Amino acid sequence: MNEIVRVEQAVKKYHRGAEEVRAVDGVTLEIPQGDFLAVVGRSGSGKTTLLNLMGCVDRPSSGAVTVHGLETGQLSERALATIRSTTIGFVFQHFFLMPTLTAVENVMVPGRFCAKRNGDLRSRAMELLDMVDLGDRANHLPHELSGGEMQRVALARALINEPAILLADEPTGNLDTKSAGQIAAIFEELNRGGLTIVVVTHSAELTGNAARIIHLSDGKIVDEQRLRPLPVSERVQAGEPDEKAAVPEYMPSSRKKRRWGSPAVATLMVLLGAWISASAFLPFIGKFSGYQLVDRGLLSVRFYKENNLTRVYTGEAAVILTGLWPLVLGLLLVAAAVLFLLNFQRISRWSAIVIGSSCALISGINVYMIGNRLGPNVSVEYGVWILFAAGITTLVLGVLLVLAKGVRNKKEPG
Ligand code: ADP
Ligand code: MG
Repeated sequence: MNEIVRVEQAVKKYHRGAEEVRAVDGVTLEIPQGDFLAVVGRSGSGKTTLLNLMGCVDRPSSGAVTVHGLETGQLSERALATIRSTTIGFVFQHFFLMPTLTAVENVMVPGRFCAKRNGDLRSRAMELLDMVDLGDRANHLPHELSGGEMQRVALARALINEPAILLADEPTGNLDTKSAGQIAAIFEELNRGGLTIVVVTHSAELTGNAARIIHLSDGKIVDEQRLRPLPVSERVQAGEPDEKAAVPEYMPSSRKKRRWGSPAVATLMVLLGAWISASAFLPFIGKFSGYQLVDRGLLSVRFYKENNLTRVYTGEAAVILTGLWPLVLGLLLVAAAVLFLLNFQRISRWSAIVIGSSCALISGINVYMIGNRLGPNVSVEYGVWILFAAGITTLVLGVLLVLAKGVRNKKEPG
């Protein structure tokens, strides 16, 4: 099915005292997939009312409005609410952002009604803010944003649930020319990506980008102009499968923008990883506590003190526990840092805690093993304690990463 909304002989009556107003008066209209329809007309001509009918905000007094094959007049309030939140994106002249929520939190709001997980939702909201070029304003409150920026936040919010159609009621009505131009450019890009758009507007930029324009007067369509053919419907006619056209293509393009993890956190992880790797060998190099490593073969570790052989450790277990594990874990931490930087958010978060706790555990075992073997009369190597501290630090870092859910999203891109 190549059609998102169908309006058939729709009438919407309002009563003002004894007077009956036909805000929409017998409109018949089809919105195919990929359409970009501009609705124009004088104030009071019924544009908002028509948009509300298409957006399942209102039901027609008579006639029918069908969204995705479902007739709104037949549906319960609850079903209408579901269609509104899953299928339709709304943008209004006055933005209607929540003043106490940041930009990214505002964008996330409709997603709360769509059972998406918090982490996904936040990163999705960030992608959309990037798409509207506001990635660096994510943590600002609405009052810290210009009108144009607020409207772009509202636009990102309208797209959070990947709607099939975007309905905008005079989205540039409150904006200066430059901001209006930016909004118009984003609309055009979204439509080129396959998003179906209906916009009520007086702005020449928006009507200029539209595929067609309808003029309303007293609730009736009095004129209709086609400006260009619909790219998506052409594709569908050319034999491409319908489902493909139904996938909101504007989404992947927004996802192509890579967001980077915080370089500071990544650097810290690399340094820690490198230190843990290096510290794996600390007990065996240098002259900690007067000990000197002479041989560290796979099967024996010999310690000398003042040229006297004091200890010989044999067995792979000693070597593996005191050296190879921290090395591997340190390298893993470096790998995790790279993933973190590349923004594989969940992997990096969990790898951080797994690696961190493993390091602490292995370090603890090391301390125990070496301390045990050296005996109560000899102090434990400094290097071992450093290794232990590094492990604990990594553990703390891992826990902090997990607690600071999506730490990179709270950071503004560097
Ligand atoms: P537009 O958006 O083109 O300015 P509207 O759709 O808001 O026009 O309004 C069309 C007509 O319907 C106007 O005459 C308006 O006064 C009337 N109207 C709209 N909403 C209501 C309402 N809730 N109650 C009564 N009259 C309404
Ligand atoms: Mg209006």
